[in-house]
Amino acid sequence: MARRLAVLGKPVAHSLSPAIHTAAFEALGIADEWSYEAIEVDADEFDALVRDLAGSGFAGVNVTIPHKRAALAIASERSEAAREIGAANMLSFDGNSIRADNTDAQGLLSSLPRPPDGLATLVLGAGGAARAAIWGLRGAGAKVSVWNRTQRRAAELAAEFGVDAAGEEGARGADFELIVNATSVGLEPGSPSAGLKALKLDADSFVEQQIVVDLVYGAGETELISSASARGATAVDGREVLVRQGAASFRIWTGLEPSLPAMRAAAMPR
Ligand code: NAP
Repeated sequence: MARRLAVLGKPVAHSLSPAIHTAAFEALGIADEWSYEAIEVDADEFDALVRDLAGSGFAGVNVTIPHKRAALAIASERSEAAREIGAANMLSFDGNSIRADNTDAQGLLSSLPRPPDGLATLVLGAGGAARAAIWGLRGAGAKVSVWNRTQRRAAELAAEFGVDAAGEEGARGADFELIVNATSVGLEPGSPSAGLKALKLDADSFVEQQIVVDLVYGAGETELISSASARGATAVDGREVLVRQGAASFRIWTGLEPSLPAMRAAAMPR
């Protein structure tokens, strides 16, 4: 019988995780042994579903909005990353044990074109994605500043993680060697150009030496990615980060090395 995996979220129908994991199983010739599906679940049914899946042959799950904190809470074992970030994006089931991990930070770090140690870094946002980014980048030696629309949340996060808080007007993009958008800006349908303004960034301020990461991805390039690329900065798309976090989850569940090109091809816009 195939070992089953799933992504749990709400909404989850548009998740790329089933496609990228299935592509990785096929590339390794193990698609008969492993399967991966998307399961939509409400917050009040999350715990019951997880226990049910753990007891019915599932090897684990990825967890996305809005269940990442609940995933941490339900676990009987927690990795250091999951504990310190305060959220889990994956669970592994083994008998009665449920282990929580967080591969979002690892996904971000491994998608960068160079290690971020010493880089002046601006993280935009103060939600779950920002927490993982700040934790990972700080741990890898980056000099992190955090900006958020609601400034109080940025200040709290900066204090919690021992990093700097950028001022109300944001910080000048050009002052940073690495910029990571961990807000959900860029997702609103019908407002593709509202992004940079909402993030207090100026399209003309990107420079060639910069690395600009947008965790947000959609049907096409985000305004942040296209503006940064147009100015010669190295732009890293949210799909690459998604593939990298998926690959990290894949290794934990299967113990195998997945094909990144196969996963990337499956994550491309169709
Ligand atoms: P979240 O907890 O809901 O946080 C959302 C953040 O976006 C908050 O900081 C919020 O600021 C900010 N924000 C929302 N609307 C805004 C606006 N109009 N202007 C300025 N800021 C705004 O979400 P999350 O879980 O951190 O996820 C954030 C994004 O990262 C999502 O798009 C998610 O899909 C993506 N993500 C991608 C990956 C990947 O692998 N590529 C992994 C994880 C997450 P306030 O505090 O002011 O409300």
